[in-house]
Amino acid sequence: MEFNVFEYFKDYKRGTSGPMTPQEQGTALFLGGHLGERISPHIDACAAKAGMSRRGFIGSASGFAAAMLAVNKVTGMKFFDVSEAEAVTATDFIVDQHTHICIRKDGYIPGVNTTEKGMWFVNLLDDLGKAMGLENGTKDMTVENFGKLILDGSDTRVAIFNPFGFREDYGGKDMVPIEEQAEVKQRWPDRTLMLGGGLTPNQGVGVTLDRLQMFVEDYKISGLKLYTFDSTPARGWWFDDQKLAYPIWEKCRKLGIKNIGCHKGIPFGQFMARYAHAEDFDAVCDDFLDLNFIAFHSGWPYQSELAAMKGFKPQRKNMYSELGSTFAATVTNRPLECAHILGTLLRDLGTDYVMWGTDSALWGNPQWQIDAFRKFRIPDQLVEGHGYPQLTDEVKAKVFGLNAARLWNLKSMAEAVPEEKPRIVAV
Ligand SMILES: [Zn+2]
Repeated sequence: MEFNVFEYFKDYKRGTSGPMTPQEQGTALFLGGHLGERISPHIDACAAKAGMSRRGFIGSASGFAAAMLAVNKVTGMKFFDVSEAEAVTATDFIVDQHTHICIRKDGYIPGVNTTEKGMWFVNLLDDLGKAMGLENGTKDMTVENFGKLILDGSDTRVAIFNPFGFREDYGGKDMVPIEEQAEVKQRWPDRTLMLGGGLTPNQGVGVTLDRLQMFVEDYKISGLKLYTFDSTPARGWWFDDQKLAYPIWEKCRKLGIKNIGCHKGIPFGQFMARYAHAEDFDAVCDDFLDLNFIAFHSGWPYQSELAAMKGFKPQRKNMYSELGSTFAATVTNRPLECAHILGTLLRDLGTDYVMWGTDSALWGNPQWQIDAFRKFRIPDQLVEGHGYPQLTDEVKAKVFGLNAARLWNLKSMAEAVPEEKPRIVAV
């Protein structure tokens, strides 16, 4: 009789229900071999601890780690250098809170549909994209590439995509109009959430409320991502403005919109820095306890102001932060500052209130950011000297996806089996 490898893997299930992840391939052999029956209960236990279904867990890196850990356990010998934490942490459920496309069909033409200020922003994003491997800058930040770079090309499981408004600078139309942005949601309904934006009460409260209603009714938005600096003559507004802003939050309540984000920090080029501070979150969080407010970019470089509003008011439960661009820009260039930012947010806002985001595709493929965060730690001196929590695997899992899963009610997406997708690193 000819040699047949399956003689050694009698329990290997040869008919699979589709493509497998590389980790699943390895785990399936562990389970099919003669140790399989004894490994299996350990995998179930780890899957339960990680809060995942057995099937989803087996397709993940944690599932493979659990199989190797189980071999150590059932044999009583250490064959694999693998920790309990690697095997039980659901770090594979990654929600990118902060993603964009940046293109529109009629383009950005200076003097025709784009002002000088508007062009400044387009050029900024163009340069960043080119530096990050997108040959044509913003022209490569398309719906198609959103799928290739973020959903297929990285470990991101769910991407929440964010709008750009500023229509005074873009010929009376949002920089990324909702009808074009909505194509992302139509293409990947199970892996994306869409936020509405470009609501600027300085354009008129009535028109702002009408647009909000249209976003909810026609486009089924999941939440909002707004900007308190704007391109109107007033140049900005505040979330705690009772005349301009509170009618929006009251309408959100009526329409069932619970999560409201705002660009905070990164006071770039054409906008007024004062509106990038987060002080308006203080009153609005207290006055709308049933709504959640998310500081995108975590207010960097004013993250301490944001953090203090919870550090000194620990009773607060509806203020969140998100790391888009802030992590990418500091981890590579100012690692000590990065450690302080993460430490301050985790200590004062709490480990349940800090969420992952990359601001991709502005930064191209987000995978390097994911890998950097997986490996990043806060030096012990800072942990001891500032009372920061350490970035344990458990804390990373919360930041990567568990906090967002709770906030956005993503339980069904978390349980879905990840599909194997070719890793695309460039377009
Ligand atoms: Zn952004």
